[in-house]
Amino acid sequence: MTKKQQKEYNARYYKKHRKEALAKQKQYRRSPKGKARIKAYQKTAKYKAKEKKFRSSVKHKAYQKKYQKTVEYKVWLKHYRHTAVRKAYQKNYMKKYHQSDKCKAYQTKYRHSDKAKALARARYRQDVNRAKALAKASGYTAKRFGAPGAWTGSQFLALCKKHGNVCLCCRRKRNLGPDHVVPFCKGGTNHLSNIQPLCLPCNVKKARKTTDYRLSTTQNTATQLNKAA
Ligand SMILES: [Zn+2]
Repeated sequence: MTKKQQKEYNARYYKKHRKEALAKQKQYRRSPKGKARIKAYQKTAKYKAKEKKFRSSVKHKAYQKKYQKTVEYKVWLKHYRHTAVRKAYQKNYMKKYHQSDKCKAYQTKYRHSDKAKALARARYRQDVNRAKALAKASGYTAKRFGAPGAWTGSQFLALCKKHGNVCLCCRRKRNLGPDHVVPFCKGGTNHLSNIQPLCLPCNVKKARKTTDYRLSTTQNTATQLNKAA
C-alpha cells in the first residue's frame, strides 16, 4: 500500500466509523498517556504560535464575548479581582500605561480640551500635597517638643474652607499655613483645636504670642489672650 492509498483508506475508515473514532479520541485525550502528550505539545513553539494567532482571531473574540456573559465567568471574576495576582498585574499595567506615549497624548489632549477644569484640578492636587507636607512638618515639630496630637492634610484644608480660605489675621487670600494658637514652647498641643490658618507674614508677626484670631472672624481685630507673652 502506497502512502496515498493509506491516506485514502484512513479517510474512508474515518468517514465510516466517525462516531467510534471520536469517542476513542476523547478517551485517549483523558488517559494519562494522552494528557502527557498534550502537555508536551503545548510546550512547543508551534503550539504557542498557533495559540497566539487564534487569540487575535475573530472566532476567539466571539467566543470570549459569549463566555463573558455566563454566570460561571462572573463568579470567577468576582473571586479573581481580589487576588494578589490580579492586583500585581493591575499595578504593573498602570505603571506601564502611565509611561506610555498613549497616556501622555491623552493627558495633553485633556489639558487642552478643558483648560479651566484641568487647571482647577491641578491646583486642587497642589493644595492637597501642600497640606499633606504641612501636616507632616507639624507632626515632626510636635514630636520634638513632646506635644500630643496630630492632624491630616485634608483636615487642614477643611479648616481653611471653614474660615473662608483667608488668613484669619489680615483677611487676605494667600497661601495658608497652620499656626499653633498656643505655641509649642508654651505647652501648646498639636491637636486641630489648637490650629488656625494664617499666611506666612502674619505667622511670623504673631511669633510666640498666644493670639486666637478665630474668636474674631467677623472683626478684624484680634483678641490677645495672653498679653504678657
Ligand atoms: Zn495674613
